[in-house]
Parts: sequence; C-alpha cells; structure tokens
Amino acid sequence: MLNIVIFGAPGSGKGTQSDKLIEHYNLFHISTGDVLRDNIRRGTELGQIAKGFIDQGQLVPDALIIDILAQVLDENKEKAQEGVIFDGFPRTIPQAEALEQLLAERGTQIDAVVGLEVPEEELIKRILLRGQMSGRADDNEETARKRLEVYHNQTSPLKAYYEEQGKYRAINGLGTIDGIFELIKETLDNN
Ligand code: ADP
Repeated sequence: MLNIVIFGAPGSGKGTQSDKLIEHYNLFHISTGDVLRDNIRRGTELGQIAKGFIDQGQLVPDALIIDILAQVLDENKEKAQEGVIFDGFPRTIPQAEALEQLLAERGTQIDAVVGLEVPEEELIKRILLRGQMSGRADDNEETARKRLEVYHNQTSPLKAYYEEQGKYRAINGLGTIDGIFELIKETLDNN
C-alpha cells in the first residue's frame, strides 16, 4: 500500500502529476478541489457553502473538509486498497493532524509527501492559462493572487511539518510533465 500526499501551491501541477501517478501505481485519487467543484455543479448544500469560500480564494473551513475526506475514504475502501493519492489535502496543520488520525484509525499512514516546487510568477502564468482553457471561476488574476497568499500563510508550513517527520520529498516542478513525473517516480521507488 502506498499513500502519498501531492503537495504544492495552486498551479504547481498537482492534478496533472496525480493523473500520471494513479495510473502508474494504481492509486485511488482524492482531490478535495474536485469533490467541492462536483458538489457545486450538483447544487448540494455543501456546494453552496463551499462556493462562497472558493470564489474568494479562501479555504473551506477545516471541520467541513475533514468530514468530507473521512466520508470519501469510507465510501471507497475497495478502490483505495493499493493506496491513495491525496491532492489538495491537507492544506492546514489541523487538516494534516486529522489525516494522520483518520489513517491511523484505518491501520495505515502517509508514506511520502511529494512537494512540487515552482516559482511564484510561473504559478500565476499557469493559473491564468488554465482559467482561459477551462473557464474555472477561481482561475482569474485577483483570486489566484489571493490563493497564493492563503497558500503561503496557511499551507506552506506543512512543508516543515512533513520534513520533521522525514516524509517530505522536494521535486523541481519546472520542466516537462513527463520529466517531472520521472523525478517523482525515482523518488518514490527509492522511498
Ligand atoms: P488549486 O490547488 O489549484 O488552488 P484545488 O482544486 O485544489 O485548486 O482547490 C480549489 C479551491 O477549493 C481552493 O482554493 C479552496 O477554496 C478549496 N479547497 C480545496 N481543498 C481544500 C482543503 N483541503 N481545505 C480547504 N479548502 C479547500
């Protein structure tokens, strides 16, 4: 079993590399951003609450997202047998602590945190390009800058948190998609 967190700023390529990782290692992909966007599309109560935060570039409250994650884990036990890739979660220290506990209760743990490291200006460029192609409502310049600020304040401390646990693996997130994927594979295969 291989449980991985894919970690990095908005626009660092987490979703793109997750798609390649799930195929290569036969992992179950949990993207909290995708779960929230799906709820917004379906007009659920959760979606309505989440939309307000997402459109402002803010994080959805920890308690809400932690409940969602626990539910997704329990609903997908079969598919998650080989392991899970957590994409967009955890984003705060309390979320990381909750994840540790949720996994411990299920007899497992995080094996590695793959940190995609990309310079700030490149992140903005990628987010705006993605917004033009996908029409994602939060991929405009103002919200993107806000999301990066939230990332620096609330999410980036997780790097030190996982470094202390010896789990953080820094990956240069600049380069071709396949080149970056090779780096990740090398790192995980030697984990
Ligand atoms: P990105 O990493 O490009 O910002 P995501 O799709 O992961 O995109 O997330 C989009 C938005 O969904 C975030 O800006 C945030 O508002 C919300 N969100 C996703 N995951 C979480 C989480 N773990 N905790 C709080 N909010 C979240």
